[in-house]
Amino acid sequence: MTLPEWVPIRDDLRPYEPYGAPQLDVPVQLNVNENPYGPSKATADDIAESLRAAATELNRYPDREAWALREALADYLGHGLAADAVWAANGSNEVMQQILQAFGGPGRTAASFMPTYSMYPEYARNTHTRWIAGRRADDFAFDVDAALALIADEQPDVVLLASPNNPTGESLTLDAVRAVCDAAPGLVVLDEAYAEFRRPGTPTALSVLADYPRLVVTRTMSKAFAFAGGRLGYLAADPAIVDALRIVRLPYHLSTVTQTVALAALRHADEMLARVADLRATRDEAAAWLRAQGHDVVDSDANFVLFGTFADRHAVWQGLLDRGVLIRETGPDGWLRVSVGTPEEMTAFRDALTAVLESPSIRQENA
Ligand SMILES: *Cc1c(COP(=O)(O)O)cnc(C)c1O
Repeated sequence: MTLPEWVPIRDDLRPYEPYGAPQLDVPVQLNVNENPYGPSKATADDIAESLRAAATELNRYPDREAWALREALADYLGHGLAADAVWAANGSNEVMQQILQAFGGPGRTAASFMPTYSMYPEYARNTHTRWIAGRRADDFAFDVDAALALIADEQPDVVLLASPNNPTGESLTLDAVRAVCDAAPGLVVLDEAYAEFRRPGTPTALSVLADYPRLVVTRTMSKAFAFAGGRLGYLAADPAIVDALRIVRLPYHLSTVTQTVALAALRHADEMLARVADLRATRDEAAAWLRAQGHDVVDSDANFVLFGTFADRHAVWQGLLDRGVLIRETGPDGWLRVSVGTPEEMTAFRDALTAVLESPSIRQENA
């Protein structure tokens, strides 16, 4: 996409493309880390009935503060959190943008450690926040010493850390979280979009939230919670941090429809999350299978697996797509990321990958 010259967009935005994980209508979609299991009929009915009741009030603005929803999210999170320590928006992407609107901006700096979530530099760009890209170690592990050195040098106003990290999959230790919180002069944002998928014994930063008033933990209903279409992200933080975000949020940013539907889904949290254990097991099977085929695989606490490396990863990605399997061409050079689907979808993925890697052109390129 190239914008015509006459479109008076900001000069710094002109070179960019819109966010673009391809949305293609293919049989097996394993590219954006959705939960493949949708709500049951009973949950769908409750959602629909709640919406039917709310529909008679759509002439009114929604609760600007979304109190009922924030209470339900606080209950869901546990850790003794109350509604005033929780904030919600249209996806955790909007939560993050609000964070950079309030805590980043001209003259301010945000930092993260690559490879990580590709949207972080975009929030920084959109809010005129100076962006500092640190590095992870060669095996993609979070390098605490390198991170502390970067924080000491750059004094970032916001540090963004995904744990489990996307697209690599591994989590931060609590020691690492504490070390960053002790060193960082500003906000530390732990993006726990995949928290529910973490392996047993892997901690959440929620357990140290009370010790660090400038720590923010973000979550989403898009991944484990099987609610990507509902667009609901949220965070837990000190209530004073939440108040700062209320200054930049748009009035009535969470529609009545969103609040109603999310509340109904949260009433069925047990069911929405019922397949998470299955997905974890399927993930571990996929990782083991990929390793057995001789690929490099990063240990994952999330619902995806990063594997590689391929001399021409695009050809592998395209070969899979030609066989009806859409995965994600993302992350470091040579690697590909596959989301965890149903067992049937994973069989289709394995069969397609085997066929692609046996095809003569690809064998040669990746030899
Ligand atoms: C998917 C994802 C999100 C969540 O996005 P939503 O806007 O809540 O759908 C946030 N952070 C990371 C690292 C993700 O992979």
